[in-house]
Amino acid sequence: MQNRRVLISGASVAGPALAFWLRRHGFTPTVVERAPELRDGGYAVDFRGASLRVLDRMGLLGAAEAAATRMGAVTYVDSADRPLVGTPPTYQSGELEILRGDLARILYDATKDDVEYVFGDSITGVAERGDGVTVTFARSEPRGFDLVVGADGLHSNVRSLVFGEERAFRRDLGYYVSIFTVPNHLGLDRAGRFHNEPNRTVGVYSARDNTEAKALFWFGSEGLDYDHRDVEQQRRIVEEKFRDVGWETPTLLKAMRKAPDFYFDSASQIKLDSYSRGRVALVGDAAYCAAPLSGMGTSLAIVGAYVLAGELAAAGGDHATAFGTYTAEMRGFVAACQKLAEGNGKWFVPPTRAWLKFRNLNYRLLPYLPWRKLIEELPLKAGNAITLKPYAVARA
Ligand SMILES: Cc1cc2nc3c(=O)[nH]c(=O)nc-3n(C[C@H](O)[C@H](O)[C@H](O)COP(=O)(O)OP(=O)(O)OC[C@H]3O[C@@H](n4cnc5c(N)ncnc54)[C@H](O)[C@@H]3O)c2cc1C
Repeated sequence: MQNRRVLISGASVAGPALAFWLRRHGFTPTVVERAPELRDGGYAVDFRGASLRVLDRMGLLGAAEAAATRMGAVTYVDSADRPLVGTPPTYQSGELEILRGDLARILYDATKDDVEYVFGDSITGVAERGDGVTVTFARSEPRGFDLVVGADGLHSNVRSLVFGEERAFRRDLGYYVSIFTVPNHLGLDRAGRFHNEPNRTVGVYSARDNTEAKALFWFGSEGLDYDHRDVEQQRRIVEEKFRDVGWETPTLLKAMRKAPDFYFDSASQIKLDSYSRGRVALVGDAAYCAAPLSGMGTSLAIVGAYVLAGELAAAGGDHATAFGTYTAEMRGFVAACQKLAEGNGKWFVPPTRAWLKFRNLNYRLLPYLPWRKLIEELPLKAGNAITLKPYAVARA
């Protein structure tokens, strides 16, 4: 086996999942994460289709199921909190829903004993030599590796360093999302309550056995010019957009000021023809972010990590062969998952009052609509749009 020393940037979902499989196949991964420690917080993410089979092959399906949110229905309410219409649990939560931070913790715990994790650091340079890569870091001394993989999310640092500027690969879908932890002040019991105004959705759902809740704000907008690192500026954008929205919005905006895990970003996709350049590859959102509107990002990250490690092992570590087959194996799956996000925005963030009425009418009639099954089956079909190769492992 050649090219055993693999540096992975990012310790959320794709990074630790890749480290897991690389160890199984006899590689020696190192994971570098910018955050000072594992980021525990975060929103609910869900699994569909092939990703559940990968979790099972990892022996982690039981742990994920034990941490599942078991969310019930979401109720859409008017500004006086009167229920208008509801959507069934499978609509938001897929086949298995778990908080992103809990999933990261499960993957980290499964790898931390035999994988080197370096927290609080970031790659600053990647220089390819004939037989390896010299990597420089913001804090650590330079080190040599055989391969580098960017698992560092939508705004991937490795992609910027090696593939080029993000804007060349990013496609914004015209929506922004903010999400953060708040007290469960509505006393929600494994349930969500959402309110819409044209072009804006505000909601709250309970989490961690109802001991807390997640507030979410979505709005449609042309591209906004803001600093990704300036949280204060992002909070002000959310306040500005929702200033005149009633219901529980003022309380949630107040809670936003104290939230420990404020998140804000555009709903964007990453489109690349190839997920590698030389000795550097990308996995997860860094390579093929599908946007939260698809509900498939976690599935893509878990399956992508499995395929990338498996192809490397199958090629005896020959990165040129493995990275090529990795892209080929994933391409159709990525296209199917990214397609799911297209058109979803209007249903989740209706642009006008007329659309809002139309959406609510559809949800009300859902049990009787002939295409109901199709709506449920489409995400499942996308989640299964890949045939997983078995990839023999070197060690159990
Ligand atoms: C609001 C919201 C809701 C979502 N809902 C769903 C859902 O229902 N279902 C679903 O499947 N998916 C959902 N997703 C998407 C899902 O969260 C992502 O697709 C998934 O987390 C991708 O994992 P990742 O490891 O590739 O990237 P990320 O989870 O983005 O992790 C990237 C990691 O890299 C680290 N990093 C960043 N820069 C650097 C650097 N310079 N050096 C080192 N480390 C760095 C970050 O700190 C982070 O730990 C949602 C996303 C959002 C934002």
